[in-house]
Amino acid sequence: MYFPDKMKYPPGYWRVFVLALILSNTTMATAANPGENMPKPTPKAVFIILDGIAADVLESTPTPNLDEISGDKGYTRAYVGGVRGQASESPTISASGYNSLLTGTWSNKNNVWDNEVNDPDYGYWDIFRIAKAHDATLHTALFSTWTENRTRLLGNGLEAAGGDKLDYHFDGFELDTEQFPHDIAYDYLGKIDNHVTDEAARYISVHGPDLSWVYLEHTDDIGHMYGDGPELIAEVVIMDQRVGKIWQAVKSRQRDHDENWMILITTDHGRDAETGMGHGGQTERERTVWFVTNGADLRERYYQMPAMVDVLPSIVTHLGLDMPEKIREQLDGESFID
Ligand SMILES: [Zn+2]
Repeated sequence: MYFPDKMKYPPGYWRVFVLALILSNTTMATAANPGENMPKPTPKAVFIILDGIAADVLESTPTPNLDEISGDKGYTRAYVGGVRGQASESPTISASGYNSLLTGTWSNKNNVWDNEVNDPDYGYWDIFRIAKAHDATLHTALFSTWTENRTRLLGNGLEAAGGDKLDYHFDGFELDTEQFPHDIAYDYLGKIDNHVTDEAARYISVHGPDLSWVYLEHTDDIGHMYGDGPELIAEVVIMDQRVGKIWQAVKSRQRDHDENWMILITTDHGRDAETGMGHGGQTERERTVWFVTNGADLRERYYQMPAMVDVLPSIVTHLGLDMPEKIREQLDGESFID
């Protein structure tokens, strides 16, 4: 608090000063009240999965873009893999991790136990289906280095999965061996990540979809090849730069439009403690993931080891989506935002 030096002010100053204070408070109060009736900024959400980055690896790597997004309260550790030793225990495998986010349920419900995704149970609705059921005009998009996120996990276009839920998708490049010839070092997947990132940033800045998902893979490939070490750290640095491009797009939307963006970045599993090459089991390091968000109104829950299945209810809260009671009752998680 700043107190003016009495000696510098003539007698009577205090009355003027106090009157000015009262007036300024009154002005602020009158200005704030009509604001309550103004339309709120349109809520928007984008979530990004960066494959296979253990929490300790992320924490020990310089990631200026993720740091800017999280500020001083948007980073937390979280977990995947369900409840250890109980029915919901789920493998720390990629597709199971993605689908825990997408459906807000563990593998014993959504039935995704591996990357084959042979028989997912679409009775557990994904976030895009919930959004479209709430309001079919909501604009949805997917940008992905793995095509089966769309064709199998979301089952996009399948009647059992709620039909077509994506207004735009950008994927299929790992199947395009002409544009992206496969090399044994898996460099092509890094190139696809760049391609997917550039389009996600462009599309978000131009169209501002209400709900979008960006999936990038190359960190997991590097982890499987080299395990923990400088190669993986170098790829995490590149991932951070990819996220930075999408974050710039989000910031441009916030600046130029009346929109309220929530961006959330996470990973699908950790890595084994011995080498960092593998994952799939129930060790602490494989089960431990992390969230980075710019989201406001984070509840205490966010800092108490939230679960991957908490992301869906949190996005639902941010976007203000209604969902059928039956779908809500099936959820394994809870919102970590108010
Ligand atoms: Zn993975």
